[in-house]
Amino acid sequence: MDAQARIENLRKLIEINSYKYYVEDSPELEDYEYDKLFRELKELEEKFPQYITSDSPTQRVGGISEKFNQIPHKVRLYSLDNSNNNDELRAWYRRVLKDVGEVTTSGQMSLLNNNYDDIELACELKIDGLAVSLTYEKGRFIQGLTRGDGVTGEDITNNLKTIKSIPLKLFEDVDIEVRGEIYMPVSSFKRLNEKQVAANQKTFANPRNAAAGSIRQLDPKIPASRDLSIFIYTAILNSSDEKRILSHTDAMDYCKKLGFRINSYKKCKNMDEVIKYCKYQEEARKQLDWATDGVVIKVNSFAKQRELGFTSRAPKWATAFKFPPEEVWSTLKEVEFSVGRTGVVTPVAIIEPVNLSGSVVSRASMYNFDEIHRLNIELYDEVLIKKAAEIIPKVVKARKTNNSKLLVLPENCPVCGSRLVFSEDEVGTYCPNKDGCFAQIKGRLEYFVSKAAMDIDGFGGNVIEKLIEKDYVRLPSDIYKLTPDMLMTLDLVKEKTTSNLLSAIEKSKDALLSKFINALGIRFVGKESSDILAQHYRTIEELEKATYEELSTIGGIGEKMAKSVVEYFSDTNNINMINELIALGVRIKNKYNGVTNLKLKGQSFVITGTLETLSREEAQSKLKELGAKTPNSVSKNTTYVVVGENPGSKAAKAHELGITILSEKELLEIIS
Ligand code: NAD
Repeated sequence: MDAQARIENLRKLIEINSYKYYVEDSPELEDYEYDKLFRELKELEEKFPQYITSDSPTQRVGGISEKFNQIPHKVRLYSLDNSNNNDELRAWYRRVLKDVGEVTTSGQMSLLNNNYDDIELACELKIDGLAVSLTYEKGRFIQGLTRGDGVTGEDITNNLKTIKSIPLKLFEDVDIEVRGEIYMPVSSFKRLNEKQVAANQKTFANPRNAAAGSIRQLDPKIPASRDLSIFIYTAILNSSDEKRILSHTDAMDYCKKLGFRINSYKKCKNMDEVIKYCKYQEEARKQLDWATDGVVIKVNSFAKQRELGFTSRAPKWATAFKFPPEEVWSTLKEVEFSVGRTGVVTPVAIIEPVNLSGSVVSRASMYNFDEIHRLNIELYDEVLIKKAAEIIPKVVKARKTNNSKLLVLPENCPVCGSRLVFSEDEVGTYCPNKDGCFAQIKGRLEYFVSKAAMDIDGFGGNVIEKLIEKDYVRLPSDIYKLTPDMLMTLDLVKEKTTSNLLSAIEKSKDALLSKFINALGIRFVGKESSDILAQHYRTIEELEKATYEELSTIGGIGEKMAKSVVEYFSDTNNINMINELIALGVRIKNKYNGVTNLKLKGQSFVITGTLETLSREEAQSKLKELGAKTPNSVSKNTTYVVVGENPGSKAAKAHELGITILSEKELLEIIS
């Protein structure tokens, strides 16, 4: 398709979807899908400016319905241009500085700013709702319009009067126009949709559409019955106010004084501060009860705003940093079946690379074979990818395409060819060839040498592969039998690396019991539970004798784990391997031996934000030495949440659950 035809095609697609979104409040595309079309059109128009027309969606704002009176705006309303990542933010700022920046007098040339002084920026959350303009005369609310197409708005004055956070009378008798965003709290949106389902009525796609759909009803009783609210983010000042109110943040303070509901803002001195703020809000906003899709960054000075002006669609003095989507559709190109150290076969989706929560993702977990059946996933389906709590993206939904094709699940291990076994418990499908399957041998060895286990530096995946291929190493204990000659025969390893590797092996012989237990790779027993076991059993010999009853009463050791520990030590091969490790010189020490002060036993501490005097790892290790647990997330079982500088969403969660918050100073008092 040539450029002109594609441009026309994109315009049609965008217009149809804009109508559904702005006029019918019933979008069919996800916002990022719409944004992709919009961006492609913008790029094509930039490349072929001869095809730009004044009615192109890139030159216009929103849409307008005929069901309300249409009233021209006194001052035009605009949209916002987007920045999708830090590079785009910096590029916008560079353009701003080039237009209105002052050449630096400090003599310091900044690369980013091309020797301009930084200018102050105001940041605030971008509320995902519906833009309205409110006009007040002598302090009384007289008219409320939707943004409409920016030039003309729909008169929804009566509906807006039903919103309690819109003052009908201001604290001062002034003439003023303000703009803001009508939104519906997320909790109210969920309740509304439940009611709609119960009444057999159409549900809303998201809180934005629910807000827009509610406020644009002819009968004011409907918006009155729905929980709507507003944040004001713009004031159109009269000429006398303009003389004393010189910046956006001053205007917001003034609006607050008049009685308007204002969201908090942050003044930033430069783009680095803006980026830090956006990063912080990306997490913090998850605790809010209202939808936000980004951060709006505005040049704070009104004089500079006036100098910068507008494009046909948006102000040049502002940009909307859009939070990266947390869910995104992509195409399933292939499925890899990966065999882990315990033999479990995990299907991994290989997808068309997509941007998810700020990073490019090309692989996503599909958990197990059952999940493939449950989600009815086929090759070349479109799959919805979501970032899971554990950071590994996963496939959560699939939809068919014309190319969808049956996905054949393997019956044999893709690595060693053994017939796969299906187990009813949560293990799923696994390869039973424990001692012969290359993937399992390699996986166990990689785990054994990893940082949280024996911590042997220099054992990259390919060194381990070569060692297995040469038949030098199969069991972890074989690592301690390696000689310089053996290592020298590996093509990869030079003399220097050989001696480094040997000294790392030697160093690892002084092992902590907690890490040693972890290194054994007992199913379900990870770093945290190994540490708990080391607190209760002072030596490996004591742990070998532990019974199921005893283990399952230890806090933090579940029944599944207890069963697995007993099973592991009842296998004489495992006991022999441990004895061999000890015979080869591994000396196991327990950091809890001699520690009688387990004063924090039974308590759990979650740390959020940056601590000033010690690193998070140091604080956690100290707490553990005193018997406390240090999980990474807040739950109702958390005893304390320690809050450092720039805390994440965990602090808000602690407030919500009524958990005691500690400062760094209070923590130091407890652990000293
Ligand atoms: P926008 O929502 O991206 O940004 C502009 C708007 O942000 C302003 O008009 C204002 O209403 C709002 N805003 C919120 N907080 C603000 C603040 N603090 N300061 C200033 N403004 C603030 O732009 P738009 O033109 O309203 O809509 C375009 C967006 O709508 C697209 O990004 C797209 O995702 C979505 N859309 C989706 C579909 C679909 O089919 N899914 C169709 C059309 C549009």
